[in-house]
Amino acid sequence: MTFLFNSDASRGSVFADAFAAALPDIPFCMDAASVDPDAVRYLITWKAPTDLSRYHNLEIIFSIGAGVDQFDLAFIPHHVKLVRMVEGGIVRMMQEYVLLATLALHRNLPAYLDHQRNRRWAPLPQRQTAERRVGILGLGMLSQAVLQRLKPLDFPLAAWSRSPRSLDGVTCHHGADGLETMLAQTDILVCLLPLTAQTHGILNSALFSRLPKGAALIHVGRGPQLDQMAMLAALDSDHLNAAIIDVTDPEPLPEDHPFWMHPKIIMTPHVASVTQPVSAASAVIDNIRRHLAGSDLIGLVDRTRGY
Ligand code: NDP
Repeated sequence: MTFLFNSDASRGSVFADAFAAALPDIPFCMDAASVDPDAVRYLITWKAPTDLSRYHNLEIIFSIGAGVDQFDLAFIPHHVKLVRMVEGGIVRMMQEYVLLATLALHRNLPAYLDHQRNRRWAPLPQRQTAERRVGILGLGMLSQAVLQRLKPLDFPLAAWSRSPRSLDGVTCHHGADGLETMLAQTDILVCLLPLTAQTHGILNSALFSRLPKGAALIHVGRGPQLDQMAMLAALDSDHLNAAIIDVTDPEPLPEDHPFWMHPKIIMTPHVASVTQPVSAASAVIDNIRRHLAGSDLIGLVDRTRGY
């Protein structure tokens, strides 16, 4: 029963130490070329290797990241479980990033950065947090954690999910009607959805038109969820006030892409949240123990939903 690690060596050595201490009976291997494929029961990787079918006894694929949209489920045998990364480091970093971006938009940072570049000293009107409504697309693990961080700041909070949910202090919406209702009452929209066929291109001109004039966007989901031209049109017509974008399609964007120099866009290179090896190793070890004990896995992907 071998655990095969297929990612960068620096993270691998942290995992190797953690496995040696916590699961000494499970051989840990970082070299796919030398492993006995029949021994591999667990694989951690960012993408499915092209020779996946050689691992006849594979039981679980762990994604090294929080998303699983990079896997083509059609190529993963049905008996193999796919598990996304659920670990405290990713959660904390996403809380920090969305808090940073929400406050930056709330306090007009994109406009002030542009003013500074143009040597303009021009105070802008400033609302109170209680007058700035934050709406999150997605109400999963990361959105819930982000909402807990935003709560003490008094922003009116709302979120949208596929199925009905409830969360203390948050106005919860779901389904197509729920989306329209939330958008009409949102000043800062955060996209924290998984990429699926349903969420591909969801940030489009129809969605932007339902936001109040002057709303702003934080995009930390996945690049293909955003219609880039629609966002540029909404920014250039002043319907959207500003955008903070962490994910793009492609990554990186070409050098001549209009996002780079746009005065209303702040862009970061997909760093909102990154798997932290120590906490990730302990999350994977915990899941293997659950698997061996016949308990439910944390972060198990539902193939029918695609997340
Ligand atoms: P979860 O699976 O815990 O939650 C997903 C949420 O999205 C759920 O609330 C789900 O609804 C909702 N959802 C999914 N599809 C739809 C839909 N069609 N309509 C409405 N709601 C929908 O995911 P996480 O919170 O852990 O992560 C979300 C995403 O964040 C990841 O998939 C990844 O793409 C992105 N991410 C980005 C990072 C970055 O650095 N930029 C880092 C980490 C993650 P329901 O509750 O009904 O199931």
